[in-house]
Amino acid sequence: MTDVDVAKNLHQVLECLPDGVRLVAISKYHPAEYIQEAYDEGQRVFGESHEQELKMKVATLPNDIEWHFIGHLQTNKVKYIAPYISMIEAVDSLRLLREIDKQAARNNRVIDVLLELHVAQEATKYGLTIDQCRQLLEDGEWRKMHNVRIAGLMMMASNVDDEEQIRREMTIAADFFDEVKSKYFTDDDHFRERSWGMSHDYKIAVECRSTMVRVGTGIFGPRVY
Ligand SMILES: *Cc1c(COP(=O)(O)O)cnc(C)c1O
Repeated sequence: MTDVDVAKNLHQVLECLPDGVRLVAISKYHPAEYIQEAYDEGQRVFGESHEQELKMKVATLPNDIEWHFIGHLQTNKVKYIAPYISMIEAVDSLRLLREIDKQAARNNRVIDVLLELHVAQEATKYGLTIDQCRQLLEDGEWRKMHNVRIAGLMMMASNVDDEEQIRREMTIAADFFDEVKSKYFTDDDHFRERSWGMSHDYKIAVECRSTMVRVGTGIFGPRVY
């Protein structure tokens, strides 16, 4: 047993998720034994944000775990995770998309990615503005990338207490998803994920059409940096 009741927390989160919403358990900065505990309860999808830390965890934990890379990813780090990563959630430039395609090809894989939107008010967050995202898709170079598959959109709402603001930002992202889906991906069933909702706002996210919530602290407790 770990100090935190991972199993109990995990089930509490899962109980709040309707059918069609998946949980990515965000395990960054938490030890492998915490992940193992969630794994033993049936959780298979985990999210990490540092390449080195991820590598160490991959080496020691069961190999049917689906790892999502959730943080800002530097182009020069793509090659390290390309052999095994299931999904790269935060693609915020064409340059990064190209590099993922290239490294996935080297590994004879197709890697699922999400385009990260910047909708929140905080200036520090990464991501494409709605206009930049439209531009990237309109430009069309992605259509020629055969080893990368755009599976949806990801965003982080502002870190505020104002529920209405969070709801507003998530709704902007959800409406934009519909626009993108109908313009570029109508016949592509792989484009379907709306990744939003963290520990403090995943219940709101579920109401705002999220298909994938990313919960860390709510399951594993506070991170020790
Ligand atoms: C750390 C992180 C999370 C999880 O945050 P919690 O508040 O611990 O649930 C979700 N998404 C991203 C992109 C993160 O970096």
